[in-house]
Amino acid sequence: MTPVQSEQVVDFLVDLSKPEFLELLQRVFDRKVAYEESWDESRFFLGIGGRVLAVWENEEETDETKWGLWRVRAVAYVDRTRYDDGYPERWGDKSFTQHGRCSTCGTALSSYMKSAICPICGTQAGLT
Ligand SMILES: [Zn+2]
Repeated sequence: MTPVQSEQVVDFLVDLSKPEFLELLQRVFDRKVAYEESWDESRFFLGIGGRVLAVWENEEETDETKWGLWRVRAVAYVDRTRYDDGYPERWGDKSFTQHGRCSTCGTALSSYMKSAICPICGTQAGLT
């Protein structure tokens, strides 16, 4: 891939809505092997690293400029068995504002729809 082609791919990905970006990466991650051993299973997934001001997490914190710890959330796929065809995409460029935790692997999850699938272990999750 030439540098120009690489830049075109990056521009294309940046211009996608968040739901389109997730759907495209899901198709890539379904085929792209992270690493493979007979005794060790792995998967790529989209993640979000984020933090909030410490005053949001701790009532005793008085420094309104101090940040809390960074946390990682996996972006969960839409549970398509719970929606009509095309339903999530009709909502446009939604952000990943639905949150929860996978009941099987414990991974913190975010997505743009409430009914989701953990991208790590494949468990259905209800996000709020
Ligand atoms: Zn899971």
